[in-house]
Amino acid sequence: MANLRFGAVEEAFKKRPLEVKTPTERPEQFYGKYVFNRARMYKYLPVDVYQKLIDVIDNGSRLDRSIADAVAQGMKKWAEEHGATHYTHWFQPLTEGTAEKHDAFVEHDGKGGMIEEFSGKLLVQQEPDASSFPNGGIRNTFEARGYSAWDPTSPVFIIEDTLCIPTIFISYTGEALDYKAPLLKSLHAVNVAATKVCQYFYQDVKQVHTNLGWEQEYFLIDEDLYFARPDLMLTGRTLMGHDSAKNQQMDDHYFGTIPERVQAFMKDLEIQALELGIPCKTRHNEVAPGQFELAPIFEECNLAVDHNMLLMSLMKKVAHKHSFRVLLHEKPFDGVNGSGKHNNWSLNTDTGILLHAAGKTLNDNLRFVVFIVETLMAVYKHNGLLKASVMSATNDHRLGANEAPPAIISSFLGKQISDLLEHIEKADKENIFSLTGKTGLQMDIPEIPELLIDNTDRNRTSPFAFTGNRFEFRAVGSEANCASAMIVLNTAVAEALERFSERVDALVAKGEDLTSAIIDIIREDIKTCKPIHFDGNGYSDSWKEEAKKRGLDCESSCPKCFDRYLDEDSIKMFESMNVMKRNELEARNEVKWETYTKKIQIEARVMGDLAMNHIIPVATHYQSQLAKNVQNMVNIFGDVEGKQLSERNIKIIREIAERTNIIETGVEELVNARKQANKIESQREKAIAYHDTIAPKMEAIRYQIDKLELVVSDELWTLPKYRELLFIR
Ligand code: ADP
Ligand code: MG
Repeated sequence: MANLRFGAVEEAFKKRPLEVKTPTERPEQFYGKYVFNRARMYKYLPVDVYQKLIDVIDNGSRLDRSIADAVAQGMKKWAEEHGATHYTHWFQPLTEGTAEKHDAFVEHDGKGGMIEEFSGKLLVQQEPDASSFPNGGIRNTFEARGYSAWDPTSPVFIIEDTLCIPTIFISYTGEALDYKAPLLKSLHAVNVAATKVCQYFYQDVKQVHTNLGWEQEYFLIDEDLYFARPDLMLTGRTLMGHDSAKNQQMDDHYFGTIPERVQAFMKDLEIQALELGIPCKTRHNEVAPGQFELAPIFEECNLAVDHNMLLMSLMKKVAHKHSFRVLLHEKPFDGVNGSGKHNNWSLNTDTGILLHAAGKTLNDNLRFVVFIVETLMAVYKHNGLLKASVMSATNDHRLGANEAPPAIISSFLGKQISDLLEHIEKADKENIFSLTGKTGLQMDIPEIPELLIDNTDRNRTSPFAFTGNRFEFRAVGSEANCASAMIVLNTAVAEALERFSERVDALVAKGEDLTSAIIDIIREDIKTCKPIHFDGNGYSDSWKEEAKKRGLDCESSCPKCFDRYLDEDSIKMFESMNVMKRNELEARNEVKWETYTKKIQIEARVMGDLAMNHIIPVATHYQSQLAKNVQNMVNIFGDVEGKQLSERNIKIIREIAERTNIIETGVEELVNARKQANKIESQREKAIAYHDTIAPKMEAIRYQIDKLELVVSDELWTLPKYRELLFIR
């Protein structure tokens, strides 16, 4: 039997690192080389047009359509100087990844020839034939129109020969069919609500921006080995494979020396990412063998989301060049860590104040406490929804399982902040304030150092941890669009801040002093949101019990978690903050359930094929070899002694027979269960059936296959093994 596995291993061994030339320019010179940034806008646009565009970007003013032609002209001129011949509206539909349809700049010139043209109309809005993007029934197929509309706040960029224009994607009737449209609305909501709260403390604040710094984990696998694993190719993860004897027990990969081929890949990736304006900063080995991480410097949230999407597609391209495959699946291998994204999130004012950082004055510190507590209020009130925002069929393997982070959302604050909140809550209100001589109003609260970063010891088990001047949401999936989590977080925080200022204003209207009113509400909220605060070990069983008692959302079935989007509290939140309407939420949930089902369905099919076409034939082949050997032994030594001497082989023959029987029955049951589930009309019920009946059946089959891998001769085994996938590079 020709063995693809050995061929692949041999090829993989031969590979050497590609040489990546270090650019002659310094990063500050090639950073953003392919981005139409402000300096280029200034250079390529008439002054008045430039000013109007900057006003749109900075102040959210309405785009004056009359400038669109001039902007398009300038963009085209710049793009052509870089050899671009095409343009595309680049958007983020409800699938994973991004979508683009390239058009050449050419138009008829009316005289039988061609001219290169790019009008403002084409820049601002397009109607991609988008009937096959998921829409959850918002658009019937006969009304298949969807519009993509330019997002001027994220600069256009060039990839190879194409000018890419970041856009939102909405239906003919205005419903969002993508991630960017609701993200922008959520950013607006947080801006409005936070600015109002800021003005209690600082009158000059006009805007509040949201920051996002993501950390991206991923696996790199040799491409030849990847191609020898149909499960990796078709589902992004290994559906079978016994543990490698050595994996991550020794902790020798984490922060270790980066292997040479990987180093070359990273260097190449970083140069290209920097050229696209992605401010890459950190790279290192992660915990599992073959696992790595990349993190840029944080940016404005919308831009950061675009950059993460762009980076993920760039990674795939660059990996291929280096004969690697990048795995963004949250759990490509059993038994070693999975991959996630950490979303570092914070707010800052247009005057440069980081709202989740302590300051020097009493005023700063009260503001700090308000933003910490109101963020906790948001996370507490919508903890189930926040979890739903990061749930997916693939991330389910991390969140549902005993892996970082747990499937219950809670927030780690660290000792200092915990003590501080407790003090504010418990202290006699009169005592919190005292008027002292020179310093004026003094708040009797423990000192808050400006730099908390080193003090908030790193509780890795917390899904939503305070880390000094920001919160770090660690439950986001490695292949997810960060926007999903950010939409919920921003909207929930906007709502909490709005409720906060309503209550403060009501007290002030009754004649209470502003600071005193703020303290009153904060004390109330510290009590209310207490159940979300947990500094202990998030993996422990006692926490699961405790969390249930506290009323936190403990659901771990992914399709059921999606229900949280349709809770009345959630709908009210999204509608009142003007982010999404009920029908949009309903439609998006249909998409989520359908996607969940399809993912498990594909896995189940691949599992069945591999079991029947790879595993059973190989195992049976080995079994026949053994049987022949036993027969030979009997021929030589006679029945009794021959069998005695063949005891071990006979045992394996039996084991293979038993296991292959179980596998075969398992596959049959799997097929039947799928047939049953496929008859279910409701997308929700179907997804639940796939979760409850089909996924566990796959696990049971896998168990038998992994045991067979241990007994069948290595020589015959056709699928690259874990040790090969994880260690050869
Ligand atoms: P780690 O959690 O691995 O120690 P780092 O401290 O390097 O990571 O930071 C992770 C990410 O957090 C980076 O993208 C960094 O730019 C970002 N970050 C730092 N400060 C903030 C902040 N105030 N708001 C949002 N992101 C931030
Ligand atoms: Mg981190």
